[in-house]
Amino acid sequence: MAETDGMTAPILSPRGSYWITTFGCQMNKADSERMAGILESMGYRAGDDEHSADLVLYNTCTIRDNAEQKVYSYLGRQAQRKRTNPNLTLVVAGCVAQQEGESLLRRVPELDLVMGPQHANRLDVLLAQVEQGQQVVATEEHHILEDITTARRDSQVCGWVNVIYGCNERCTYCVVPSVRGQEQSRLPDAIKLEMEGLAAQGFKEITLLGQNIDAYGRDLPGITPEGRRAHTLTDLLHHVHEVEGIERIRFATSHPRYFTERLIDACADLPKVCEHFHIPFQSGDDTVLKAMARGYTVERYRRIVGRIRERMPDAAISADVIVAFPGETEAQFRRTLALIEEIGFDAVNTAAYSPRPNTPAADWPDQLSEAVKVERLQEINALVEQQARQRSARYAGRIEEILVEGTNPKDPQQVMGRTRTNRLTFFPGARADGRAIEPGELVTVQIEGVRAFSLSGKLT
Ligand code: SF4
Repeated sequence: MAETDGMTAPILSPRGSYWITTFGCQMNKADSERMAGILESMGYRAGDDEHSADLVLYNTCTIRDNAEQKVYSYLGRQAQRKRTNPNLTLVVAGCVAQQEGESLLRRVPELDLVMGPQHANRLDVLLAQVEQGQQVVATEEHHILEDITTARRDSQVCGWVNVIYGCNERCTYCVVPSVRGQEQSRLPDAIKLEMEGLAAQGFKEITLLGQNIDAYGRDLPGITPEGRRAHTLTDLLHHVHEVEGIERIRFATSHPRYFTERLIDACADLPKVCEHFHIPFQSGDDTVLKAMARGYTVERYRRIVGRIRERMPDAAISADVIVAFPGETEAQFRRTLALIEEIGFDAVNTAAYSPRPNTPAADWPDQLSEAVKVERLQEINALVEQQARQRSARYAGRIEEILVEGTNPKDPQQVMGRTRTNRLTFFPGARADGRAIEPGELVTVQIEGVRAFSLSGKLT
């Protein structure tokens, strides 16, 4: 151990460069940031080329078939490189790793480490085993350790904080429960501590993350004197709201089955919680929702949105939807389109159903053809864009509070940030007196240009 400024710090052995490619959802992105943090604490430095890095890690996703296929093609190229460069360390993490386990090693024997998402915080321990010459598979159910390392976050302004890992739901199309395991909530104080650390580093916005964030706390002990669970997402929002320096709080992903009025009231009452809700509805038809085992009806979804708009009339609502689920009829698909028109979403992530291994719906006989999938996807995408454009129109001429995230990658004269409702907004990066606008600043912008998914304007 070396002494620095009276503090004890480990001596870092330089280990070369690392490269991480992340597929899939925000949970994976957050895991990648934590793994990057671990690698840097071990003495690795971020490399700038996948094909010359000393350690290459693919953090994988099984939700879509093409993401999985892409991993195999990337791995093929790295495996070839490893044959001439035995010092290369090759890691597959995430959901494909969890799902495939040892069979991945059989398919790509050049791999050093195959690790499921529950093991992300143990990357250093697993790599130590690799350094001793072992080929390691870590996919067993594992109690997730508190984050003991600082994540290396891609943004210096907006950070993600995991609050619950895993998912106990059994949506019939989804691999998450089998790859990410049982729900495990972090303790409120650990979450708050992480947010305080991020605030001290200058972060201004935090998105609390969970695969089903409304389940937060149901695995933690305790009952309140009123007889309800002691730990809920609503309580957590109140608990972390006081973290000084954090100006905005968001959360994702919400589940309509568990979304409560208490939560909506907290969002309306707590000034830092942004008026943006990402609530997947998946289908606008009750029979399809039942087949998906989602546990709510279209009417319940409507009521949630109605209540949000009652308390926060300008709130943005975004969602996820799956089209061409096995057996989905034309009439059922039309009901999904009708729901989109009725609600008026600010954004919707659309996907055509794709069968995932080890999920019930994958084995159902009434799979729809690729042609139907493509057709429905195109039709729904056109409607989503049209709706987003209509929703964007309301910003024209308005003055919006924007949290500046950085320079517009397509125009270095401009900066970009987001409204509280999560619309990306571009505007000139200098004030009238020539002073630059810095990432992390909260500014007010007069909106002049509106497009489906972004806005532009000028500083007021
Ligand atoms: S709630 Fe359903 S879709 Fe979401 S992660 Fe859990 S099982 Fe998958």
